[in-house]
Amino acid sequence: MSFGLLTVAYIIAGVLFILSLGGLSTQESAKRGNWYGILGMAIAIIATALSSQVTGYGILAASVLPAALIGAFVAARVAMTAMPQLVAMLHSFVGIAAVLVGFVSFIDPNANLTGAAKIIHEVEIYIGVFIGAITFTGSIVAFGKLQGVVRSKPLLLPGRHLMNILMMAAVIFFGWMFFAAPTMDQGILPLMIMTLIAFVLGIHLVMSIGGADMPVVVSMLNSYSGWAAAATGFMLSNDLLIVTGALVGSSGAILSYIMCKAMARSLMNVIFGGFGAAPAPGSASAKAAAPAGEVQSITVDETATVLKEARSVIIVPGYGMAVARAQHPIWEIANLLKQNGANVRFAIHPVAGRLPGHMNVLLAEANVPYDIVLEMDEINKDFPETDVVLIVGANDIVNPGALDDPASPIYGMPVLEVWKSKLTIVSKRSMAAGYAGVDNPLFYKENTKMLFGDAKVTVDNVLAQLRR
Ligand code: NDP
Repeated sequence: MSFGLLTVAYIIAGVLFILSLGGLSTQESAKRGNWYGILGMAIAIIATALSSQVTGYGILAASVLPAALIGAFVAARVAMTAMPQLVAMLHSFVGIAAVLVGFVSFIDPNANLTGAAKIIHEVEIYIGVFIGAITFTGSIVAFGKLQGVVRSKPLLLPGRHLMNILMMAAVIFFGWMFFAAPTMDQGILPLMIMTLIAFVLGIHLVMSIGGADMPVVVSMLNSYSGWAAAATGFMLSNDLLIVTGALVGSSGAILSYIMCKAMARSLMNVIFGGFGAAPAPGSASAKAAAPAGEVQSITVDETATVLKEARSVIIVPGYGMAVARAQHPIWEIANLLKQNGANVRFAIHPVAGRLPGHMNVLLAEANVPYDIVLEMDEINKDFPETDVVLIVGANDIVNPGALDDPASPIYGMPVLEVWKSKLTIVSKRSMAAGYAGVDNPLFYKENTKMLFGDAKVTVDNVLAQLRR
């Protein structure tokens, strides 16, 4: 393929990636966005494979085909609740790829660069390998914490901030040695030492963050993997990789910011959990005032009866709905109530579940129409006029303590103000706390009733009762 044609293909793929990101920002256009991404990636792979840089088709096929098969197999089997782990694992691949490409382009005997071009190339290599190495080990630790194979409690070593600063100082020192090295043989040692330090830094940074903050960390590592890919693009002089890496890097950074804002935390509070401020959610020191009032439970039959009588119903899904995979019967209940003349809507909190958009994906899977799925800001004002709110496996996102208890670790986090409705029914298995590890005063309110049991079982039973 000629250079001109390759450039055109790369521009088209780049535009498709931008359209893809735009499409993924709303539910209505998300499928289209996915298709733009698939098409862009297909064009990018085919154009790169046909470019003059690729000569060994045997090696390319031997690596790409098994990888594509393994990727398709793993993606098809992964449970929605295990998606963060999968994403973390994929980021580690981008990280190690950046490290390997960095080393290969440094020892490339055909490089023959001199003067400013050589310095720029070495800067690209050093930064690319550094970000790639941190992303690699950081993502593996994040995977381990999410999968439960690494302990999720933050590892708070004494002097850990000093250790990070010393490691950064060493990275700068070896960078100076690397750039000053007159020959490749002399430059490779500081590059290798820096890589080892960056590996340790990646492990240490993520080990010192609690397992509860891993979704934000995964989003940040997503951003790092983007910058690592962009650096790889510079090393390989591949414009599309630079554009794609920058898109991933910036969108990951924006996503981390949005997640932190929705949890009323700062990014610094997440990354350096120990710095000042309130204790991190999930930490042993997380305390809130003990809720007052009595817990009232409700049976499946009673739930079906009040739902039948309700004229307006809001359903609030949370992490428990994802665990129980109860979205299909929930939608069937909503449908029956609609047919019964009720105004039924779904309320989505920006950090419901364990990934942004987690609930939207599950509801879309159950074919819930988008126009009855409303964001928190759109629906919060409607709770006072609502007869019944049905909460399915949600906890922190409906905790009134976030608004009125300054001692609560989640104080300041905007929540769905469900308690303002006439009746709130909470479907969960026990009185156990949610992700933030705090008690929920909602469960003790006079107008709240607890529907205990696995969400799939209770929701199925309510549905059966409604059908009678
Ligand atoms: P929570 O984790 O607060 O609560 C989920 C509840 O679901 C639990 O209290 C649990 O109670 C219940 N549950 C679990 N399994 C089942 C089951 N099989 N059937 C019925 N209930 C079940 O989830 P929310 O969605 O309310 O809040 C999300 C939390 O995650 C927030 O704190 C948010 O900050 C955090 N977070 C979210 C991110 C995102 O991007 N979405 C990112 C980072 C953090 P029980 O055990 O009694 O059944």
